[in-house]
Amino acid sequence: MTTSINLVELAVAGVQRLVPYQPGKPISEVQRELGLTRVSKLASNENPLGPGSKVLAAITQAAQNITRYPDGSGFALKAALASQCQLAPEQITLGNGSNELLELVARTFLQPGLAALFSQHAFAVYPLVTQAAGADAIVVPATDYSHDLDAMRAAITDATRVVFIANPNNPTGTWLEAKALENFISSLPASVICVLDEAYHEYQPETRRPHSSAWLAKYPNLLITRTFSKAYGLAGLRIGYSLSSPELAELLNRVRQPFNINSLALAAAEAALADDAHLQRSLQINRDGMWQLEQGFTELGLSWLPSAANFISVRVGDNAGVIYQQLLAKGVIVRPVANYQMPEFLRVSIGTAEENRHFLSALTALLKA
Ligand SMILES: *Cc1c(COP(=O)(O)O)cnc(C)c1O
Repeated sequence: MTTSINLVELAVAGVQRLVPYQPGKPISEVQRELGLTRVSKLASNENPLGPGSKVLAAITQAAQNITRYPDGSGFALKAALASQCQLAPEQITLGNGSNELLELVARTFLQPGLAALFSQHAFAVYPLVTQAAGADAIVVPATDYSHDLDAMRAAITDATRVVFIANPNNPTGTWLEAKALENFISSLPASVICVLDEAYHEYQPETRRPHSSAWLAKYPNLLITRTFSKAYGLAGLRIGYSLSSPELAELLNRVRQPFNINSLALAAAEAALADDAHLQRSLQINRDGMWQLEQGFTELGLSWLPSAANFISVRVGDNAGVIYQQLLAKGVIVRPVANYQMPEFLRVSIGTAEENRHFLSALTALLKA
């Protein structure tokens, strides 16, 4: 006999309290629901240029062999990454998006009674993986929308097992100076795993980009995560990687699913890594688009948070949620960030010049109405 049962009560405590991640709206959904044809998605920090032709050729080639399981060790891609980062392949772990690496860290190091620490306005996946593991999430207030490293250091207790830092940070776009960041990492107890999330690493100007991979030799508790989803334009394939000590990588490898990266993603990432010209074009589009949006905001009298990434958070005021909806009605998808305690802001991904124009003209029409 079936008796009614509250399944939520069967879920582990951490999951009972979880609120699912809210992704940016897909273009097809907005077209379907609002009956629009022209839709610009500036909501998920994707590369507006898309992948290069070499990536597409590599995927076509790899598609010949999808009857086989992928190379579960990711040998060729790890070799290419190792050579680029001047590390050993044993220091690299591949993830189904860098989000999977965040989850592997939580599953490897967190449990009830332990805590993970991160900043206010930090990436939503940190509390998600922490709570799912049943651990406590300690949120440290930010200063001027940026990580307050001194306050974060002071908030560490014996229960703290993981610290998450995003540099540059999403959704603020703020960045940390290399020296301050390394000082922070060196100040951590050896028992605290420091996850340095560099999803937007490539967008930082060379002069400002910390040479973080060189720190790994000194800090066996450091794990750097990067992704092919942003600057490399492969968000749909789900592939990211981490750099760490071999010991840390070996632990994550125990928890990882044997074939977590599919063969098309492996081939595409390898090809993307080899196509520096495409990466440079992508970075240039981003610089131009950032300038275009900043100019537009200036003309509208709006302020924004200076960003080192491929998005920008603009302060539109108390009715940001309404403006978000009105932009949607005009076919422009951006991201409301009230859930990041930034209720007056909208986060806008840098698009092509045409997409940026679409957004700016829609915003101008709304604000002038
Ligand atoms: C986009 C993003 C990621 C990861 O995305 P994946 O597609 O899973 O690689 C990680 N951290 C931050 C801060 C991000 O914005």
